[in-house]
Amino acid sequence: MLKRTIAGYAQPGARVLQLGAGFIGCIIMEALAKRGVSLTVVEMGDRMVPRMMTPKAGAMIKHWVEEKGIRVLTSAGVERIERADGGDAPLRVRLSTGDVLPCDLVIVAAGVAPNVAFLDATPVHVAKGVLVDARMETSVPGIFAAGDVAEAPDLFTGAHLVSAIQPNAADQARVAAINMAGGQARMPGVLAINVLDTLGLISTSFGQWWGDPEGQGVEQVDEGAFRYLSLQFKGDVLIGATSIGMTQHVGALRGMIQGRLRLGPWKDHLLEAPQRFFEAYLAATQPDATARRHPVAAFA
Ligand SMILES: Cc1cc2nc3c(=O)[nH]c(=O)nc-3n(C[C@H](O)[C@H](O)[C@H](O)COP(=O)(O)OP(=O)(O)OC[C@H]3O[C@@H](n4cnc5c(N)ncnc54)[C@H](O)[C@@H]3O)c2cc1C
Repeated sequence: MLKRTIAGYAQPGARVLQLGAGFIGCIIMEALAKRGVSLTVVEMGDRMVPRMMTPKAGAMIKHWVEEKGIRVLTSAGVERIERADGGDAPLRVRLSTGDVLPCDLVIVAAGVAPNVAFLDATPVHVAKGVLVDARMETSVPGIFAAGDVAEAPDLFTGAHLVSAIQPNAADQARVAAINMAGGQARMPGVLAINVLDTLGLISTSFGQWWGDPEGQGVEQVDEGAFRYLSLQFKGDVLIGATSIGMTQHVGALRGMIQGRLRLGPWKDHLLEAPQRFFEAYLAATQPDATARRHPVAAFA
């Protein structure tokens, strides 16, 4: 007898429970929604995408998803998945909230973790991933790590961080390879870059998007239009940003953060009018051209 595939279970109307509303979970959600299943998403964090989005942004994404007919339970953990004896659903899922949900299919989207167990009995230092310095060298000279398995210093905080995205893997691999070949190369630091499409709603976050206790920040919210922008500064440098519903110029946010551009008087202008970030970017990177094309932007 043929085993049923996931597609076989995810028929229109099937009760599907998805564990996790992180980056991967949001991608999977789109495919499930298209199949017309009755979808419940269970997330232990207090909001959707909690490790990439501010509380407000996570709440707005939740609202968007719920408007598409998906049930989202936050601050709720899956405690047990049981075979149901009797009833019309094969599975029963117990949540930390006390709810018990009958399900036809459970999908676990709880993120990725570096597979580092093979280093257990070695002198290579491991935390969540393999700890490396700016040269991508581990605690054992001559042994290097790069990509999803590596835990490297963050651009702003210096704290070690696994940044599981492709551009980071490529940059780190290049630096590791140069050093392994006897050259001298250093990573300026890991920059968090998150770009997510949740059922058509684009959201991004960059750098230290949660801000700094000694810094300043601003949030601009248009709930009805599902537009949101948060900018976080330390001194006159933009250290982090979060956006929803913006597809134009978000690369400038990344450029300003990664380049640690000194924004001068533009910092205060952006605290008043964060949507003008692209003008600030031009003023900081092409001051002469900006003064010619955007006289209004020349005040910075
Ligand atoms: C669903 C999904 C969506 C993603 N979307 C994006 C995106 O939109 N943008 C983005 O930038 N990044 C995205 N990523 C992340 C991106 O895929 C990774 O950051 C990138 O692949 C990391 O490259 P890597 O070489 O470090 O690891 P991998 O690509 O995982 O390569 C590691 C390889 O090593 C093999 N391996 C592991 N252990 C062993 C072992 N003990 N012995 C031998 N081989 C082993 C694995 O099988 C694998 O082939 C996504 C990832 C997932 C899972």
